[in-house]
Amino acid sequence: MRETLVLNASFEPLSTVTLRRAVVLVLQEKAVVEQAHPELRVRAATVELPMPRVIRLSRYVRVPFRRRAPWSRRGVLVRDRHRCAYCGRRATTVDHVVPRSRGGGDTWLNTVASCAEDNHRKADRTPEQAGMRLLRTPYEPSPSDALVLALGGAGRGGLPDWLPVPA
Ligand SMILES: [Zn+2]
Repeated sequence: MRETLVLNASFEPLSTVTLRRAVVLVLQEKAVVEQAHPELRVRAATVELPMPRVIRLSRYVRVPFRRRAPWSRRGVLVRDRHRCAYCGRRATTVDHVVPRSRGGGDTWLNTVASCAEDNHRKADRTPEQAGMRLLRTPYEPSPSDALVLALGGAGRGGLPDWLPVPA
């Protein structure tokens, strides 16, 4: 997969993202193309644009400089793609793996997306106590994920399949 360099609105390099993600950011007007491939173009459903090598964010973003994404409930849902960590169904709530009442914190590693039903069932217990198994281990978002989260969750897992990338 080709990578596209992302510049902040201030022209400082931030990170790289996949070509598909870069195109989506441009289509969503969250970034502009600063440098494109001289020949290759990318086709989407109704538009065609030069294959971006470098894009620049339309709005200044602070998060990537910290290289860590600040924890947020919305961030956890985006990270877990709105899938419940216990049953895989659609999640609308955030569960603390170790409950806050037992010292569990608002951290990436201690929180997972959860459906309301499982969150209610687990209540004030650890997964072991509740006899519930985590389908996946929570993780801290990478700097690249942090960039996506800072941009409003665009793209993580949600990139359209209609976006063909020429070889
Ligand atoms: Zn569930």
